[in-house]
Amino acid sequence: MNILLHICCGPCSVYPVRVLRQQGYRITGRFYNPNIHPYKEFKKRLNTLEKYARDIELPLFIEREYGLTEFLRNVVFNEQQRCKFCYETRLEDCAKMAAEKGFPAFSSTLFYSKYQNHQLMRSVAERMAAKYGVEFVYHDFREGWQEGIDISIKEEMYRQPYCGCIYSEQERYDKSLRKKRRTQSLNNQDFLQKDAVAVNRRVEEREPELSVC
Ligand code: SF4
Repeated sequence: MNILLHICCGPCSVYPVRVLRQQGYRITGRFYNPNIHPYKEFKKRLNTLEKYARDIELPLFIEREYGLTEFLRNVVFNEQQRCKFCYETRLEDCAKMAAEKGFPAFSSTLFYSKYQNHQLMRSVAERMAAKYGVEFVYHDFREGWQEGIDISIKEEMYRQPYCGCIYSEQERYDKSLRKKRRTQSLNNQDFLQKDAVAVNRRVEEREPELSVC
């Protein structure tokens, strides 16, 4: 079966493309990510994906326009809800394009990420599938988290350090903000403060290796 696969970036595409091909799908990729800022980062992620797609003979439909203005207009004053908009805009684009171009099904590499709201994305994708009359192929690609990382490192792919938008860039690098958020979240879960400090330390040690998308 032909499938249109929304791809957020090269490293996140490695495992989903492998699995879907093993399952017999003929994949075409769709790069539409107006959430990626700033422009140089957008270009870097796109260039990385294009090179990898050539290597593995993966056809792509690419949206090259940088979507900063439109993205910000939709999330300003509603920043806490920005991920919902971010999922909706990308998954809707893919479902709509699948319907227009005659693909019976679509999916997304977002389901590879351990950092996204998996259940929210799934409900959005199912809603878009119903809206456009195409099948949403669900697979929990997080099972291949380490495999995807290993291959992307071996392929010397650019591995981004933050999710994509400018807000996530601040969350990644602004230590005071990160610490505050983690402590709040840990307190909400009734962790003792000393546990929070220990967890913070472990995350600090681990984060430089991550590709956070
Ligand atoms: S944090 Fe990530 S998923 Fe959420 S709005 Fe920013 S780029 Fe999109």
